[in-house]
Amino acid sequence: MSSIFTKIIQREIPAYIVYEDEKFIAFLDIIQATPGHTLVATKQEFSGLKELPIELSGDFFKVVKRVAEAVKDTFNPTGVNLICNDGQGAGQTVYHFHFHIVPRYENDGLTFKLKNHMHETRSEDYASRAEKLRKALQK
Ligand code: AMP
Repeated sequence: MSSIFTKIIQREIPAYIVYEDEKFIAFLDIIQATPGHTLVATKQEFSGLKELPIELSGDFFKVVKRVAEAVKDTFNPTGVNLICNDGQGAGQTVYHFHFHIVPRYENDGLTFKLKNHMHETRSEDYASRAEKLRKALQK
């Protein structure tokens, strides 16, 4: 079954499309977490980051940058969060690869704060995590 975003791409359901090219589409997120909250998605359905072909990822980010800059110029937010919820545990609900562009405003009510575990993390924990990652990145 095609995703809700594919239905938007195929004009089977309405959306406020703001940008489109051969490979990507950008449209307003229906929930408008803040005014101007926009999604950028691939036109082809890839369920997540792993499935996104590496060859598409550079061009995808170019579109994210372009749309994010337009959002900033248009709405004058105090900042912008670029969010990719990849996987159920990260809060992904639509399994069709996309980024959220969320403009931020004073007192916008959004909270996304990373918890600081620096003081409970031992130097050997950093070292072993970095070593594992380096190994994974050599493959
Ligand atoms: P995520 O939870 O990261 O997978 O994001 C999916 C997003 O798609 C949510 O923020 C939804 O509000 C948004 N969404 C779902 N259906 C639609 C739709 N028909 N038009 C616009 N945005 C949608």
